[in-house]
Amino acid sequence: MRIRARWSGPARKIRGPARVDRREFLKKAGIGVGGGLVAGGTAGFVRKARAGEKSPYPDARQVKTVCTHCSVGCGVVAEVENGVWVRQELDLLHPISRGALCCKGASLRDVAASDKRLRHPLKRVDGKWQKISWENALDEIANKLLEIREESGPDSVFWMGSAKMSNEQCYLFRKMAALWGTNNVDHQARV
Ligand code: SF4
Repeated sequence: MRIRARWSGPARKIRGPARVDRREFLKKAGIGVGGGLVAGGTAGFVRKARAGEKSPYPDARQVKTVCTHCSVGCGVVAEVENGVWVRQELDLLHPISRGALCCKGASLRDVAASDKRLRHPLKRVDGKWQKISWENALDEIANKLLEIREESGPDSVFWMGSAKMSNEQCYLFRKMAALWGTNNVDHQARV
């Protein structure tokens, strides 16, 4: 993706919009934020990068994998002990991300392992969330959707996909929207 941006710092004046690629844009944005912090007298927030803590799982197997949140496919090293993914590390040698991860990739393991993960459907009744079965949840959602379509037509619903979905899931999701009867379907990252 190409981003049009204007760079107007005193050291490097460019007349008119300059073309920078995504990586360059992020690099410059980072310099801008860092410079702003130092200029604002908040040097305590800025420190030299150094190696992180040692893994508390020295016997864990290191498994190279990729973040599945989007199609960039940044590298992650999963530490696996007794068949359980216990910790994650940056993959400094990955040819695409070279050790970098956005916040979604940095919390990749938490998607499955976090205590805060939603493990069953919840329904809000009188302002309070109640646990309901998957069967009930599916029935309620399906009935509500059919009611909406009956009242307002198929274009009254927008089907929102996710960067977390695989290619095959996206294919099925698009089919589902077509089956429903609308072209109102897109991907959350575009929005
Ligand atoms: S770390 Fe971020 S940019 Fe990289 S694949 Fe995951 S979601 Fe995409």
